[in-house]
Amino acid sequence: MKLVLATSNKGKVREIKALCEDFEIIPYSELIDEFEIIEDGDDFKANALIKARAVFKALGDEDVVVLADDSGINVDILRGEPGIYSARYAGADATDKDNLYKLIDAIKEKNVQSSPAHYTAAIAVVTKSAEYSVHGWMYGEAITKAIGDGGFGYDPMFIPLGYEKTLGQLDEKTKKSLSHRAKALSLAKIILQTL
Ligand code: IMP
Repeated sequence: MKLVLATSNKGKVREIKALCEDFEIIPYSELIDEFEIIEDGDDFKANALIKARAVFKALGDEDVVVLADDSGINVDILRGEPGIYSARYAGADATDKDNLYKLIDAIKEKNVQSSPAHYTAAIAVVTKSAEYSVHGWMYGEAITKAIGDGGFGYDPMFIPLGYEKTLGQLDEKTKKSLSHRAKALSLAKIILQTL
């Protein structure tokens, strides 16, 4: 089965490929030119479905299965920010580093050194005849320092529950065993096996 990913985010592509070794995974940008997808849904699930539907339509191939991941981090002391805006927290053209340091500054402004936080991943699967969505979560602590250069995005400032190191310091195998994306993908794989 040709499983097309509706993302070109390198960190996500690397993790999804490592977590779905039994499938042939192709980022959509290897098949067609990348195009802008307006993610104007109210939650992660809505945005994952928007991305998967847009790529399915653009590919114009009824035999493909498209998988999209919409994910982000919610920080309790910031009342859940940045949430669905995680990729563009520091602006439309923000880099992962811009977003990371903006979040660190926002937490510092609350005069704390850390806050409970969680990551969410919504995975949508779109085929010619059906649409599915599943979720996964990872809980922990967002800290006001960036430590380590593993993972991507906000990983250097996130310590998973039960650990003392950030996801930037922990190895990929550890993140693979606890991440929001791994949990959502383990459910998505059950769906993919039925197609
Ligand atoms: P999306 O591409 O609109 O789903 O945006 C996801 C954004 O959330 C990414 O750009 C990262 O900033 C953040 N994010 C999602 N998952 C992770 C993760 O596993 N580690 C670090 N940051 C993540």
